[in-house]
Amino acid sequence: MRNDTTSPISAHVEMAERFAAHNYAPLPVVIAEGDGAWVTDVTGRRYLDCLAGYSAMNFGHRHPRIVAAAREQLERLTLISRAFHHDQFGPFCAELVDLTRTAGFAGDTMVLPMNTGAEAVETALKVARKWGYERKGVPDGRASVIVASGNFHGRTLTIVSFSDDPDAHDHFGPYTPGFRRVPYGDAAAIEAAIDETTVAVLLEPIQGEAGVIVPPRGYLAEVRRLCTERGVLLLADEIQSGLGRTGTTFACELEGVVPDLLILGKALGGGILPVSAVVGDASVLGVLRPGQHGSTFGGNPLACAVGRAVVDLLRDGTYQARARELGVILHARLRELVGRGLREVRGVGLWAGIDVDPTLGSGRDVCAALADRGVLAKDTHGSTIRLSPPLVVERADLEWAVDQLADVLATARRRGLSAASLSNH
Ligand SMILES: *Cc1c(COP(=O)(O)O)cnc(C)c1O
Repeated sequence: MRNDTTSPISAHVEMAERFAAHNYAPLPVVIAEGDGAWVTDVTGRRYLDCLAGYSAMNFGHRHPRIVAAAREQLERLTLISRAFHHDQFGPFCAELVDLTRTAGFAGDTMVLPMNTGAEAVETALKVARKWGYERKGVPDGRASVIVASGNFHGRTLTIVSFSDDPDAHDHFGPYTPGFRRVPYGDAAAIEAAIDETTVAVLLEPIQGEAGVIVPPRGYLAEVRRLCTERGVLLLADEIQSGLGRTGTTFACELEGVVPDLLILGKALGGGILPVSAVVGDASVLGVLRPGQHGSTFGGNPLACAVGRAVVDLLRDGTYQARARELGVILHARLRELVGRGLREVRGVGLWAGIDVDPTLGSGRDVCAALADRGVLAKDTHGSTIRLSPPLVVERADLEWAVDQLADVLATARRRGLSAASLSNH
């Protein structure tokens, strides 16, 4: 990467390192503008954004229809609190419910809007516990929730309590009890873990942070069957997998599964502000009565206006189709690199987890070399990189990004990754 100490890039990086907590280790790229799938740094250099804010930017940077909705709302009303109604709230909830109809939600479906993804996961867990005590008859204080190994559901104390990632988990105790972790992708393990205290199974239909892990075919459908049979709620965390990424509106649709609670976030905020939501039937979400849960900012007018624009973009299936069609191209191109620097390629739609041959270097080394070539991507664990470009990416740009990856891997195989990273300069 560029290490010239007098560059505007190093000035920004140094300021961030001096004054901001080091809870991330960003690549030394300083972005100033974004447009669609492309961003521009403080020196005017352009990059194709193949991370897309961990799928928060599914519709690209500054999508004109989302920006227009936000602008219009900024001129009218931004916050009033849930103490009163406002004119964006009902329409947002109704339109989001309508979007879930395509995924099989029927009956009295309702929405509980929150802000961040972690808050929505916490909301779903609170609802599941309350449902367990009030509807299922679990003795008070004994509810348990089954979660999967390799899970990522956010960063709150309760959520990190059941993470098996040592970085996310360690030294943040004492931990919230009431969670049982079983191997991901193993429905029999869930069946064995269910007992009379089990109120819910919480899963990502495809695990994002773990490296875009797609479970075996039939897994979700089998978990759905088990949950129904044993009277346990299925909570689907679609914060990263939902809203078009996999080529369907929700990843659960890939197996025709309707969860009891659908947890949304990231792209729901249109890349403008945090908007999350829990969607579920009145028989479950209805356990919350006034005063029992809330958020000052959840469901605010600006968030609802932006969320309505996002829902509207997803209505006719155009973006889902793009993710599906471009995803076929992306995966075909990536599979050609297996044995040529990649060990494995996983994923669905415009979402890929790739394992780089660890003898070539770390995922971060590859991401640094990609950034040198104008492609932004993010490593997750070790040698795994996640690719999740905005759904608005052009086919030629997507293929160009894979060309850059192929070039980085080819150079690394000849001369090592440090050479691959420097070869552009
Ligand atoms: C990002 C993410 C979260 C947490 O969302 P935040 O908005 O960062 O709190 C939860 N679950 C999944 C699957 C995610 O990808």
